Amino acid sequence: MSDVAVQTAPASDGSAAKVETFRNRIDGEWCHSASRPFDNLNPADTSDIVGRFQASTAEDAERAVGAAQAAFEVWKKTPISRRAAILNRAADHLDAYADRTAREMTREMGKALNLAKDEILRSVQTLRFYAVEGQSLTGEVFPNDDPDMTVYTLREPLGVVSVITPWNFPVSIPARKIAPALITGNTVVFKPSSDAPLSGYRLAEAFATAGLPKGVLNFITGGAGEVGPAITEPPVIRAISFTGSTAAGEHICRSVGFTTRTQMELGGKNPLIVMDDADLDKAVDLTVKGGLSLAGQACTGTSRVLVMKQVRAEFTERLVAKVKALKIGNGLTAGMDMGPLATAKQLETVLRYIAIGKQEATHVYGGERLTGAGYERGYYVSPAIFADVSQEMTIAREEIFGPVIAIIEVSSYADAIAKANDTEYGLSAAIVTRNPRIMHDFANDIQSGTVKINRTTTGNLVNAPFGGLKRSSTSTFRESGRTGLEFYTQIKTIYRGC
Ligand code: NAD
Repeated sequence: MSDVAVQTAPASDGSAAKVETFRNRIDGEWCHSASRPFDNLNPADTSDIVGRFQASTAEDAERAVGAAQAAFEVWKKTPISRRAAILNRAADHLDAYADRTAREMTREMGKALNLAKDEILRSVQTLRFYAVEGQSLTGEVFPNDDPDMTVYTLREPLGVVSVITPWNFPVSIPARKIAPALITGNTVVFKPSSDAPLSGYRLAEAFATAGLPKGVLNFITGGAGEVGPAITEPPVIRAISFTGSTAAGEHICRSVGFTTRTQMELGGKNPLIVMDDADLDKAVDLTVKGGLSLAGQACTGTSRVLVMKQVRAEFTERLVAKVKALKIGNGLTAGMDMGPLATAKQLETVLRYIAIGKQEATHVYGGERLTGAGYERGYYVSPAIFADVSQEMTIAREEIFGPVIAIIEVSSYADAIAKANDTEYGLSAAIVTRNPRIMHDFANDIQSGTVKINRTTTGNLVNAPFGGLKRSSTSTFRESGRTGLEFYTQIKTIYRGC
């Protein structure tokens, strides 16, 4: 199944390391683009080239769309049990190679190996979930006055759909888009991020190994500028499921016709509220896990901590102590709490926000570029903590997507809610409290698509809906769970007389 061509490149120790070149998959064939491939680097050690990938052209993308279009009518009519069996076989393949794929994921985007493995196993679960759930997606039957007529709805697939994904969850996000698209009978063009293409490649490989017919899932790598318009703008693209930055999502939404359905999962500025009755150790733990475990590079990551005045000093002290003890290093090394930032661009952005934070708020801890032994070829930054942050500050308003925690003091529950909601985003929000009244009110008052009580802002189930409010998502269809299937189907209403 491997399509790999092997070349050599100089390794950091001066020896020649093997570098594999990975191809696109279009119309059931592993194929090269005419252009020069690009290198995928390890952010923990940039002398390590993880692989070479196709810098696809608009023509490659057009061929992928054409192949998906040609495959649609047959795939749509393929029995659902056969489609489900393919999802299950792809899950088996992903499961069997979970250790290898986890190592590759850590090498290409930096997250700790145990988190990479968890992500792959969750993706296996996602494929298996949709193999079952997709088989019970039904229409409705409507009572009416005509005894000789039956009125009912049919759900049918849309056609060709584009799946465009970021680098931070490079298997689980594509899996939760591709699996519901395929089980409902759509055909797919999948473009992963150029910063983590190998993980997406492995997912495409799992489907190819599982016997997916040609053209049903097409995989192309390359830049948004070259590939983007060809897989978003043609009217034959009936739906786009996109996860990434709000700016890119808005751009795509504006450039597509109204007959193209969009599902955009975008940025966040996620708050965690710490009430004065909170278990402070738990609040600190949730802040660290939610804000730093992926070096702050989760869309649902905790970036603002709104702490009641009475406990603010104590909370900050305990948070700093916990953050100081974190082990930062290569995610392949067991026991690391935080890896590098994923790209040079991320490093530059995060350091820029830390510099802004130092000017506008009280710098409490960290935020240094790490350069000593073990760090010299990676994008490492120590977690930054800022206090005395107020609403108008840049670090309180803009998505940083890095290990930066902004502590905002609040005087009451009402003050906390007002400040938590004072943002253009609404992806995830959490509260730490023992008060059942406040738990109840928080679920109603907070403007957020995901609401967590005494849990991290991060993390979501494969069988429950996921998505944001305000500028964190398009207000159309939720991903994950049953709602993930609805996005990929359209409803026909049938009036059948005798
Ligand atoms: P990004 O927007 O730069 O890129 C995401 C993907 O979109 C990549 O594959 C990229 O090549 C592609 N892309 C960008 N512009 C495009 C265009 N005009 N046409 C077609 N494709 C285009 O985002 P990123 O840096 O990869 O990821 C980080 C962002 O993703 C953060 O803002 C984060 O909050 C967000 N994110 C959101 C969720 C969520 O579920 N809401 C989950 C993970 C990440």
